[in-house]
Amino acid sequence: MARLISRLLLALAMLAWPSLAVAQQGQVVARSVDLQTAGELTRLVFELSGPVSPKGHVLAQPDRVVVDLPEITFKIDPATGRGPAAPKPDPRRRQMQAAQPLLGAVASYRFGLVAPGKSRIVIDLTHPARIARLVSEPLPGGQGARLVIELGRTDQASFLAEVAKSAEARPASATMPLSAGQASGGLPIVVLDAGHGGIDTGAHALNGALEKDIVFDFSKALAARLERGGQVRVVLTRESDVFVALGERVRRARAVGAALFISIHADTLSYDGSVSGATVYTVSDRASDAEAARVAEKENQADIVAGLDGAEDQSDVSDILFDLTRRETRAYSHVFARTLVGYWQEIGALNKNPHRSAGFRVLKAPDVPSVLLELGYLSSKSDLASLTSPQWRDKASELVAKAVEGFFKDRAGVGAKSP
Ligand code: ZN
Repeated sequence: MARLISRLLLALAMLAWPSLAVAQQGQVVARSVDLQTAGELTRLVFELSGPVSPKGHVLAQPDRVVVDLPEITFKIDPATGRGPAAPKPDPRRRQMQAAQPLLGAVASYRFGLVAPGKSRIVIDLTHPARIARLVSEPLPGGQGARLVIELGRTDQASFLAEVAKSAEARPASATMPLSAGQASGGLPIVVLDAGHGGIDTGAHALNGALEKDIVFDFSKALAARLERGGQVRVVLTRESDVFVALGERVRRARAVGAALFISIHADTLSYDGSVSGATVYTVSDRASDAEAARVAEKENQADIVAGLDGAEDQSDVSDILFDLTRRETRAYSHVFARTLVGYWQEIGALNKNPHRSAGFRVLKAPDVPSVLLELGYLSSKSDLASLTSPQWRDKASELVAKAVEGFFKDRAGVGAKSP
């Protein structure tokens, strides 16, 4: 009977969170999580089907605790560790307001796949903390194991010293191997970049739908449609529910010699359900408006969300040839953005100002025309209904595909630099 009930619960869990991967044979499963305080200590405890070997480190700006694990399957609602929704931003303050803490030292936490074979737990801190205890211990009766992450209070100086020490101990993050540059048969290569993935769920709707799943489904549909059209070759920056760092997405596009890069996202506004429609963003040094700046700031958080060091090499190359290339690339990005907005009008829902620009890190390839398409708002009832409808997805991806094909036809027509 107990087994039947647990199976039933598991089936329900899978229904509720379709993005949860089915555990591979022999893979450890995280079944539940509990957050507790005991005096000065804050304890995050995961119940697992078996033991793991955890490794922890701390990161500053923002202050986080990161626990790395071999790949495990989290059968836990991804909403569990979220802090309360951020309040409406105060226009007088430029900084995003901090969310309320969940409990003790923990402002919020998340978990998931950070690379093939690697899972991770990232804890956002409310104050400087030290890892007082990090163990995987057997549960009594041999029924699996318990992963205990215990955090104690520390002062800012000791915290920063620990950050420096653990940065030294960690190997420099290796970029992931790239599948060898595809032969494109002379066709332009379009890189489709489904935002977020793995531990980074992106935005979420009240009904539990996650941005990373919606944009992945859309990218797959668009890729299939473009391949069928036979006018371009398609490369995806991620082929499964896995995290890919922002710089790595750009690197992959450049490595395959992409002629166009489309990053696909969906936005949310926790405090306003009336804002809706798609928006196409291009990169610019100065944001076109406050809303664009907000979206870029949010999308640029992806690496921080996944527990990566925020500091990435953003050295500006100052070179005349480089500037010329970048200027030409940006001009083409604008042309494609306008083309896309034009086609998108056929299915209606566009934001009131559908072409905006800001400093998106994922759009910074100097030699690949790049746009970021926010499909709509998960906080809007009508957008959410569209974004989760296969019929809408087919219609919308058809229009994006037409925009892509039109863009390359025009470029070939005016004798522009061949893509
Ligand atoms: Zn996004």
